[in-house]
Amino acid sequence: MPDGHLITKGETELAACLAAFAAAPRAGVLLCDIDGTISAIAARPEDAAVSQPFREVLAALTERLGLVAFVTGRALEDGRRMIPIDGAAYVGTHGLELMAPGGEVLAEPQAERYIAAVQEVAAAARDLDCGALGIVLENKRTTLAVHYRLATDAARTRHEILTRVVEPARSRGLAIGTGHFLFEVRPPLPFTKGTATRRLLAGGDYLTGMFCGDDMTDVTGFKTLHDWAARDARRAACALAAVTAETPSPVIEDADVLVRATPGVYLALTRLLAAVGG
Ligand SMILES: [Mg+2]
Repeated sequence: MPDGHLITKGETELAACLAAFAAAPRAGVLLCDIDGTISAIAARPEDAAVSQPFREVLAALTERLGLVAFVTGRALEDGRRMIPIDGAAYVGTHGLELMAPGGEVLAEPQAERYIAAVQEVAAAARDLDCGALGIVLENKRTTLAVHYRLATDAARTRHEILTRVVEPARSRGLAIGTGHFLFEVRPPLPFTKGTATRRLLAGGDYLTGMFCGDDMTDVTGFKTLHDWAARDARRAACALAAVTAETPSPVIEDADVLVRATPGVYLALTRLLAAVGG
C-alpha cells in the first residue's frame, strides 16, 4: 500500500512533530498504546502479538529518545511480555501500575483495598456461560476486563454483562470503564492513561511528545500531552490515532494525525526513527 494511504490526515502536523524530535532526540518522549496500535486486535487478548518489525523500530527508538513508554490497559507484566524492551517504561492497567525505565515499579497503593471486591465480581462473572455468550474474562487482580468480541448475539451478551457484572460491581462501589467490545471493572480512583502520562512527562526536561493510541482510554493521554505542550511555547506534541472502522469518534476528534491501524503506525514510527538518526 502506498504511504499516502496509510496516513489519512495530519501529514503536516506529523512532519512538524518529527522535526521537533530531530532537533533534540533526547528531549523526545514516545508514549505508545499496545493493542490496536502496535498489535492488531485479536478476538482473545492472549492471541495478540507485536510483530518483529515493530519490536525492532521501537527498540531502536528506545535507544535514541529520552523516553519510550508503553501505556496499556493490560496488566503491566502482560504489557512487558508483549513488547519486552530494556530501557523502556511501562504503564499497566490504564495507569494503575507504572514501571520506570530502570525497572522500579510504582503501584497505586490505594488500589489494594478494592481487590477483594473486584475478585467477588470476577467470581460472579465466571458463573456466566462465557463460552456460549462469547465472553473472555481477563482477571488482572486489581481490575477485571470482560471482553465480548466473540459474541454472536452482542445485545444479549451485553445485557448479561450489565446485569451480572456491571450492576454488582457498581453496588460494591467499583467503577466501570468501557472500550471496543469491553467492560472493565476497576477501583473508583482517578487513574487513567492521562494521569500516567503526566507522571512520565514530569520525570525529565522533555520538549517533544508523541502519543499513539486507538481507543477511548488513549484520549486521556492525548489531552494530557496537548495540555503539557500548551503550557510551554518550546514544547511540541502530536497525538496519533490508529484508525479502523470501529474507532470511537472522540479518538479521531482529539488526534492530530490519523493513520490506518496498524501499518500506518509502523510507517510513522519508522519516519520518527529516521528523523532521530536511525
Ligand atoms: Mg488500544
